[in-house]
Amino acid sequence: MPAAMKNLITLIALALMPAAALAEDAAPPPEAPKWSIAIHGGAGTLNRDAMTPERRAGYEAALQEALDAGRAVLARGGSAMDAVKAAILPMEDSPLFNAGRGAVFTWEGTNELDASIMDGRDRSAGAVAGVKTVKHPILLADVVRTQSPHVMLMGKGAEEFAAEQGFAVTPAEWFATEARKRALERMKTDKLSALDVDHKFGTVGAVALDMEGNLAAGTSTGGMTGKRWGRVGDAPVIGAGTYADNRACAVSATGWGEYFLRVGVAHEICAQLRASSEFKAMIVDDEIADELPAGIWKDEAQTIADAVMADVAQLGGDGGVILVTPEGHAIFSFNTSGMYRGRATSDGVNEVAIFGGEEGDKASATPDH
Ligand code: ASP
Repeated sequence: MPAAMKNLITLIALALMPAAALAEDAAPPPEAPKWSIAIHGGAGTLNRDAMTPERRAGYEAALQEALDAGRAVLARGGSAMDAVKAAILPMEDSPLFNAGRGAVFTWEGTNELDASIMDGRDRSAGAVAGVKTVKHPILLADVVRTQSPHVMLMGKGAEEFAAEQGFAVTPAEWFATEARKRALERMKTDKLSALDVDHKFGTVGAVALDMEGNLAAGTSTGGMTGKRWGRVGDAPVIGAGTYADNRACAVSATGWGEYFLRVGVAHEICAQLRASSEFKAMIVDDEIADELPAGIWKDEAQTIADAVMADVAQLGGDGGVILVTPEGHAIFSFNTSGMYRGRATSDGVNEVAIFGGEEGDKASATPDH
């Protein structure tokens, strides 16, 4: 593109930029963080009054344990893929979340698990749906990615594959909890919907950027209470509940899966971010980049995530997403009253939160880039 044309496009872009962005200091941006991670343990209608200090402390401790596990991998130079798995494993083991142990019940009274994982480096992906005997579905999803020519395996076949790959058979009692059983009973006797009995989605997920600049995302869930007829939500579907692409971002979602499937939430966010960074690369050459005020792109990923979540809401769905960008921004966006969440970066951010308006709500964790 001729230089004059490029400059003209840049001027137009600057003219369209929000005044707040232009008003920011033109000081050079601080150094980018070397790694970044965000996790979630589900979004939903969380009631502050019903949240006793003990309950809150239990959730915060479980989130912090998951965050610390992922953070430790990244801080010692490990991969984003390993960090995502490390963060999800303790949440699959915790009865507090709807994944692995503590998964919601199907209409028939079983626990059927879905999970997916994606490597942003080469966009390799693996997923499983409707498995009943695998303790850590996220690990099985990863083995589908690395040891099979497929992306998604389901039900009995996925379990046969798990056995071939050396996964132990975990008895049904491991996954079943009293609280989830009662939710199913209440749903049946009072003719309630899944949301009436659960008030929240307890899916777990993690997204990470490692020191090599690679992104990864993973999601694991029991689905929605009372699901039947082999219902599968967004969590194991690459592009809906999970997506990672080094050129754009890594996303993990939680919410009313049918709507996230219809919007293709995780891929939609990544696609919009990729298009916007290509636009950026087109208009900003090195000389002009030095002239731009710090922080003009800062809120872009948040804006895109919020817009995609607004689209979900417009169709009637609710829930939330976590994302990490190649620059290390760790972002949350949710249209529910709360989302169990946490994030940590190499520049010292380390926080967990539950309700909207607390730490990390609508604010990027990292400095301007
Ligand atoms: N998205 C999941 C599903 O629809 C539920 C959740 O996020 O908890 O299966």
